[in-house]
Amino acid sequence: MKGFDPKSCKKGALAGVLGLGRSGQSVARLLLKKGFKVLGSDHRPKAELAAIFSLPKAMKWEWSGHSDRLLKCAFVVKSPGLKPDLPIFKKLAEKHIPVYSELEIALAYSKAKAIVAITGTNGKSTTTQLAWEIFKAGLPRGRKALLGGNIGVPISATAPTSNSKDVLVIECSSYQLEDSIHFEPRASAILNITADHLEHHGSMASYLNAKAKVFREQGPGDACVFNADDPTVYKLSRECPSERLYFGAKGVNSHAWEKGGRLCFKLPGWKKEIALIPPKLPGRHNLENAMAAALLAFARGLKPAAIQKAFKTFQGIEHRLEPCGGVRGVACVNDSKATNVDSTLVALKAHEPGGKHLLLILGGLHKGSPYAPLKPWIEKTVKGILAIGSASRRIEEDLSGLVPIFPCGDLETAVATGLKIATKGDTLLLSPACASFDQFQDFEDRGRRFKTLVAAAAKSR
Ligand code: ADP
Repeated sequence: MKGFDPKSCKKGALAGVLGLGRSGQSVARLLLKKGFKVLGSDHRPKAELAAIFSLPKAMKWEWSGHSDRLLKCAFVVKSPGLKPDLPIFKKLAEKHIPVYSELEIALAYSKAKAIVAITGTNGKSTTTQLAWEIFKAGLPRGRKALLGGNIGVPISATAPTSNSKDVLVIECSSYQLEDSIHFEPRASAILNITADHLEHHGSMASYLNAKAKVFREQGPGDACVFNADDPTVYKLSRECPSERLYFGAKGVNSHAWEKGGRLCFKLPGWKKEIALIPPKLPGRHNLENAMAAALLAFARGLKPAAIQKAFKTFQGIEHRLEPCGGVRGVACVNDSKATNVDSTLVALKAHEPGGKHLLLILGGLHKGSPYAPLKPWIEKTVKGILAIGSASRRIEEDLSGLVPIFPCGDLETAVATGLKIATKGDTLLLSPACASFDQFQDFEDRGRRFKTLVAAAAKSR
């Protein structure tokens, strides 16, 4: 299928950018630079928009909704968060005005064609960052590894700076994939799939369809990495037209597995398996992320030494099971990025070896999934739950009778209460299983606040 082709557009044509978030602003700048006139459009009021960005003077923009001025555009770029059922998309379709993703526009201006793309419900950022570190360690002099996508650096800011021999390592959300007509990475990965963002995608089938775009247009010589232990991912892998590489429990199908604390690899055509020391990060899930990142690197011809070098120095990323000091012998861990039940589940599993030692801060904005799947792991690892945010009541309903639940309202009270109850050797864990928007700007704001509260408590004792 054909995607965005700059050559098919008239010089100075009008391009629409729908949604002026981080990636919208970035793609608007790129299009202006490439000689387009740009009309930005956002549903937020003027004052709110003016406070968050300064757009180039050359750009026109509208606020508080999307007007019919967009119907004069040669094409429109859609911000990943926008729901596809907005009336403006129907109008654009009626006028046959193409709608592209920021990803496609960025890649159309990229000299680098070697794209490594990572998707999945959880673990994308960690795996993308690690894969990037591996490529940085392993690419020969003169070739760069560039990072972009859903990981804080818009791909439209990175890809156009690449040279032909560079490698782009891209974190792809299901939203970005859903909006892409043409996307053809040389190597890709699907880490896991559980129900998330269904309020946006409408159904599990369309969520899966979005994820599958990471391999749909691949061809001979390309590869996609799959989690063999995730039944949904495994089933989806059967639709993959390129080479399939699996990580998971060792079986006839696996190309990467864990054995005795080592990660073992044997790719098609290899005579012998090799074993590497994994990064020093907690939890089985991080071993999976490491296996996926390594398989992506092997698929692109990198050597084991580069992978081992990156594994050795990789420290994980902020807000993902991030150790952030201690107070009176109580360790504090910031896992603010656990915005759904599945990622909190992996955080509890990662803490299993310590027994029942967790004071767990749970809550925020409820996302629709029940908390009951946490029960067996709460029984094994949690001493007390500190419930915060608008999800508090639902948490109490779903998890009552297991361990004491303290309704704390806000994070400040939760940290203070947790530290009061905790005894030496316990861990205060923020792994909320909820979105943050009821009380914070985003998960990063929540994580930083947690760390500030912990640091203040440490000082005051
Ligand atoms: P994403 O970018 O997909 O949100 P992150 O790497 O930022 O993924 O991690 C988000 C949360 O998911 C963290 O709280 C982390 O503990 C959890 N997580 C990380 N990797 C995995 C994995 N492979 N499987 C399940 N959960 C994971």
